[in-house]
Amino acid sequence: MSPQEATPPPSTAAKRARPKRVNTVGAWAAADAEAKLPPVFAGLREMYGERRWRPHAEPVDELVLTILSQRNTDRSTEQAYLTLRERFPMWEQVMLAPVEEVADAIHYAGLYLMKAPRIQEVLRRILEERGNFDLRFLRELPLEEARAWLLALPGVGPKTTAIVLLFSLGRPAFPVDTHVYRVTQRLGLIGPKATEASAHGTLETMIRVASENGALPATPQAAMFELHINLIGHGRKLCHAISPECGRCRLLPLCPFGQHRMAGAEEPAPAPSTRRAATTNTPEAGGNLE
Ligand code: SF4
Repeated sequence: MSPQEATPPPSTAAKRARPKRVNTVGAWAAADAEAKLPPVFAGLREMYGERRWRPHAEPVDELVLTILSQRNTDRSTEQAYLTLRERFPMWEQVMLAPVEEVADAIHYAGLYLMKAPRIQEVLRRILEERGNFDLRFLRELPLEEARAWLLALPGVGPKTTAIVLLFSLGRPAFPVDTHVYRVTQRLGLIGPKATEASAHGTLETMIRVASENGALPATPQAAMFELHINLIGHGRKLCHAISPECGRCRLLPLCPFGQHRMAGAEEPAPAPSTRRAATTNTPEAGGNLE
């Protein structure tokens, strides 16, 4: 070994030594998670209020908006969407426009060079299959068929699908974004091995069953809507990725991660399985952007 290899620069050594930040403590059991869901739902409602779903945009509008929002802030998403609609009021115009013009219209959004052809491809596929851009037929399909139809569109993953189903179509689907994933994992509603992709199914089933059994004071769709909105709000206001404000959190008695931190313990040991399973979703891999 050369002297250089024997003594790596301090910055490299520090990087290697630094433990990864993880969101879990101890073992996880599905039954414990199910029992915890109703008090978590109630605690979030106490903190952030009851949320009522109202119809959002038309499903194709919601779909394009959600593609624009992938890895993007709310503000720049809105700016990109409004500019796109101003320049091309009809979806057919977006589909037929030169891709550079679509990219220019949405340039406020991150990864716009990738999103422009993706949006055009999605619109083309919808038109080919349906003869128009009206996706309201998805309201009438069995949920899993509607989900599969959306998932078959290029670059559309479980989060975008669940957002369109829940927000625009009023179906009981549960989108998991980075805030929902982090907060539910810290609370122990999903296990340490859950990925963002797998958490959709786990949480959706748990919420639906709890709602149907009367353990949650809302229909499955209403419960999923309220939990989604309140978990995101909680992730932004208190349960930050770095330095969550556990001392101000009403969910602390339910939260192993928060209790661990408040006890002054070391950060939990790294768990490789908590990494996001997104290897095929990178722009480089040509997958979806979720
Ligand atoms: S106790 Fe802390 S880690 Fe747990 S949900 Fe509240 S803010 Fe997040």
